[in-house]
Order: sequence, then C-alpha cells, then structure tokens
Amino acid sequence: MTVVTPQFVPFSRALIEEDEISAVVDVLRSGWLTTGARVREFESAFARYTGATHAVAVSSCTAALHLALAATNLKAGDEVIIPAMTFASTGEVVCYFNAQPVLVDCERGTYHLDPKEFEGAITSRTRAVIPVHFSGYARNMDAILEIARKRNITVIEDAAHALPSRYEGRMVGKLGDITCFSFYATKTLTTGEGGMVTTENEEYADRIRILSLHGISKDAWKRYTSAGSWRYDILEVGYKYNLTDIQAAIGLVQLAKCDAMQSARAALAGRYGRGLAPLDAFQTPVVPSNATSAWHLYVVNVDSSALRIDRNRVIEELKNRGVGTSVHFIPLHLHSLYQKRLGYHNGQFPNAEERFASAISIPLYAAMADEECDRVIESLHDIARIYRR
Ligand SMILES: *Cc1c(COP(=O)(O)O)cnc(C)c1O
Repeated sequence: MTVVTPQFVPFSRALIEEDEISAVVDVLRSGWLTTGARVREFESAFARYTGATHAVAVSSCTAALHLALAATNLKAGDEVIIPAMTFASTGEVVCYFNAQPVLVDCERGTYHLDPKEFEGAITSRTRAVIPVHFSGYARNMDAILEIARKRNITVIEDAAHALPSRYEGRMVGKLGDITCFSFYATKTLTTGEGGMVTTENEEYADRIRILSLHGISKDAWKRYTSAGSWRYDILEVGYKYNLTDIQAAIGLVQLAKCDAMQSARAALAGRYGRGLAPLDAFQTPVVPSNATSAWHLYVVNVDSSALRIDRNRVIEELKNRGVGTSVHFIPLHLHSLYQKRLGYHNGQFPNAEERFASAISIPLYAAMADEECDRVIESLHDIARIYRR
C-alpha cells in the first residue's frame, strides 16, 4: 500500500491554545512587558515543579549554560568535558571563556556520554562536565556524579530535552550542581525563546541572576516599579539574558500542562513502538528502566543490514510521503570549527558517528494527532517493504 495523502506531517508544531494567547494579551494590556512579576511567578512555579530550590529564568538554554559556567568562575585555559553528540550550544559556551571543550564519545549504541570516557578525559585543568540528557532522559548520572565529586568537577546538566523527566525517581533539575533548560520553539515547554537555570546552590543562583541582567544588583528589574528604587550598582561585567513577562506568561500556561503534554508524547511514543516493532529496518528507542523520558525526540536508527537505502535516502522517501524529519545531532567533532580550530577529526568518536550515521528523528509532539503518528508509521512500513534487502 502506497500512502498518498496531501497533508504534511511537520517535524514539530507547538501546542499553543487560547489560554497562552490570552495570557500574552493580558501582559500586553498591563503595560509592563519585560522582566517583572510574571517572570518571578514563572520561576517559583518552575522551582516547585522540578523540586529545585532556586530557579532563574533567562533568555535561552545557551544563555543558561553560559552563565552556569560563569558562576563556576571558568577561566581561559580551563577544560570542560562535553559529549561529542550534542548541539552547538554545549560547546560554544565553553569557547566564550577561551576555555577548551574536551569532547568525549557516547556509550556504545547510545546517544549519551560514556562515564568511562568522561573519567579518562579528566586532567588537572578539568573544571566542569556537561552531560546532555539526549532525547529526554538522563543516563548514568550516578556514575557521572560520583566521578565528578571525587575529582571536584562541577556537573552542569544540559537538560534542553529533559523537561519533565526523572532519574532514579528524582526529577531532572536537582540531580547535579546546575541544570539548564530550554524553552525554544520546538522544545517540550516553549516560550518562543527562553531558558531556565535550576540549582540547590544559593551562591550560584545569585551570581547567575546578577549576570543575567548587566551584572547589576539583584533587584534591578524592580527599579521602574513602585517597589523599586532608581539606584543600582554594577557589580561586574554582565549580559542581557533576561526573560520577558510576555514570554513568562506563555511559560506559566505551558508549565500547568507540562505533565499532560508529556503523557501525550509518551502515548505517541508507545504507538510508534508498537507500530514499528515488526520492522527490522528501523531500530526504535528504549528508555532505561531507572529513568522516565520527557520524550522530546523519537529517534529511530536505520539498520543497513535490513534496508537497501541509507539514512539520507530514507529521509528523502519520508519527505516524498509528506513526513518532516530532522537529525540529532551531527557530532561536534565533524564540524569545521572543531576540526580547524580545535584539532578534532573524523573517526575520533566512533560510537557517536555510528549513531549519527543511522539516526532519523521522526515527528513527536503533544499537538500531534494519532492519525499523523499512523501516517509516519505507515510511511516507514511502505519504505521498508519497497527497499528491504
Ligand atoms: C535546543 C538545545 C540547546 C539550546 O537551547 P536554546 O534555548 O535554543 O539556547 C542546547 N542544548 C541542546 C542539547 C539543545 O537541544
């Protein structure tokens, strides 16, 4: 059966309903648009939701990662260990300090940093490690935390994919020293653009808050309100990384339905799992039993022993059948910046390269209909039937 349906199933579509829209309109009508009461409310709600002691809203996860490293006083020449299998952000923030991003491989057959590779990459210059909770769940965090504690290395989590998720029963957001979330348009909770830092450490939280708004004293955002004063003091070189009340208003509404959206994605992931199980051409993801996934991504791996066409061709075939896809991620060491400036080369991280070569992220989002999910499943069945070995 060849599927011919006119409608395109996009790779991603945000779930924005009337309550987000009216929350934004309320902020617009209030006359106060930037960082204010809505942002503080969003931070409190986010801290309650994750169980974290401190939550600081920022303009992106990239900003969150940057300020997390700043809070640890990262210096030029220091080293930060990160997985090769990640997005640009995780590495570029290290370069902001003229520090060295030290890439390590994934555990074989996974997209997550290998704790043994992490341990092997530690030197006297290692200041921090940034595990990435790829696709929506944390993996091997107890091992990573134990190694880091012994060597006095700060654990900063890139949890851009992982809201909400649990590891060994604990919410992601209070596992390591600092956790960074993304509210980018495609992420599991969106404010269009935005991010959040959570930490149990009050010093880190205060420092990140100050740095997020020009390095000026803590309550600077109040200075135009009746609660504030015109006087402020610039304490250090800061950044313009604040979230706005317009964005926070969206975030508050999204947070209230975060669990429901996760359940919707988990149900779709289950539907994919059942629908694709008969196909040996496509390996489906498995979440370890000690974790729950936010199900930000659903990544299938093409098994070339069962299919005559490669990953790139499968992506084309899906596109021809009206299915949008993406690839997460092109490992950092395969990019020009990392090869030309930092001396990395092809073949250096075989596990990441093996996963990358066969990976396709197929559509998965709370606003996705069962019929759309079935369209994707049927398209993959069709491709497997036509091109099977
Ligand atoms: C999306 C993403 C980021 C960056 O998030 P922004 O909010 O867009 O800065 C960082 N790390 C990973 C793994 C991501 O997927």
